[in-house]
Amino acid sequence: MDPVPFLDLSAVHDKLHAELAAAFERVARSGNYVLGPELEAFEQEFAEYCEARYCAGVGNGLDALRLALLALGVQPGDEVIVPSHTFIATWLAVTECKAIPVPVDPDEDTFTLTATAIEKAITPRTRVIIPVHLYGQPADLDPILNLASLHGIRVLEDAAQAHGARYKGRRIGAHGDAVAWSFYPGKNLGALGDGGAVTSNDPEVMERLRMLRNYGSRRKYEHEIEGINSRLDPLQAAMLRVKLRHLDQWNAERRNIASVYGDHLARIAGSELRLPSVPSWADPVWHLYVIRSRQRDHLQAELARRQISTLIHYPKPPHLQPAYCALGYPAGSLPVAEAMSDEVLSLPVYPGMQPETALRVAETLAEIMIPK
Ligand SMILES: *Cc1c(COP(=O)(O)O)cnc(C)c1O
Repeated sequence: MDPVPFLDLSAVHDKLHAELAAAFERVARSGNYVLGPELEAFEQEFAEYCEARYCAGVGNGLDALRLALLALGVQPGDEVIVPSHTFIATWLAVTECKAIPVPVDPDEDTFTLTATAIEKAITPRTRVIIPVHLYGQPADLDPILNLASLHGIRVLEDAAQAHGARYKGRRIGAHGDAVAWSFYPGKNLGALGDGGAVTSNDPEVMERLRMLRNYGSRRKYEHEIEGINSRLDPLQAAMLRVKLRHLDQWNAERRNIASVYGDHLARIAGSELRLPSVPSWADPVWHLYVIRSRQRDHLQAELARRQISTLIHYPKPPHLQPAYCALGYPAGSLPVAEAMSDEVLSLPVYPGMQPETALRVAETLAEIMIPK
């Protein structure tokens, strides 16, 4: 039997090759290689898709988070509440601003932050909360937004894994004060290289963000604030415009794969195998399909032996990384994140993956767990 890859980008790019090549030609011939109409067209289309008023393209997802924090007014020494279980970029954005990440353990069932847990971590120095819509599942935003407004705190959503997801029927894109996106190739909407964006309904935040990404400048050679150079390339914007038109279809295919897993793993689910649960408010886009098991390493090795690729998102939480040992969170201090890093396993899910392949993965997993 054919090996099952974890992700196969050629499954979507091969079919779109002619369209992508034509978009490349258009930009190559336009003479506009930084900012300009191609980028603006993508920004408008992506804002519309996200049900947000504004969008600004930046160099990558980490810059989207960092510049959004700065645009929201984060100052050195401010505290920013982040999930303990996330990709390290969520934390790096905070420390790049010389602010202090304050980690909070997520909810065990949804993998996302809850207002109840956040509330205990709020201090007079808290400036921003960053809920991460991890694995494509939206966090329960309304209670978080209410809590934030009660305390005069801003909310920046990390939506790097949630393109197209909905919260209570409305797209992720402008529930919070700003939303950061990554177009890293493996994301639900990925460029053919690095890319990122920020969406928001707040004109002041977006004005600052546009300056920050472009040398702190609104008019050439006038620098009102200290900015950086981080703009989404028109070439990548052109690739993303082609791919955006297919995003809903691809997310539907991911959803279908997730439901095959859900249906066929339900009979072996229990204390030794926990399946992702979808809360009532969420319409997730299955960036990853993540199961939990105390036998995770055994399952991964046995699946690999049968040519099925899986990955671990993420094997070591940020607070235990050498980069952040100085923050002073020893092993044991964030038990949920630590248990997750030992137990989570991501099964293959990507557009173009055949449902029969997902069925094979589910049946193989069942065989490993309950030998005949
Ligand atoms: C991918 C990712 C980022 C960073 O995006 P890059 O474009 O790779 O810089 C940030 N947060 C989360 C949750 C991500 O998955």
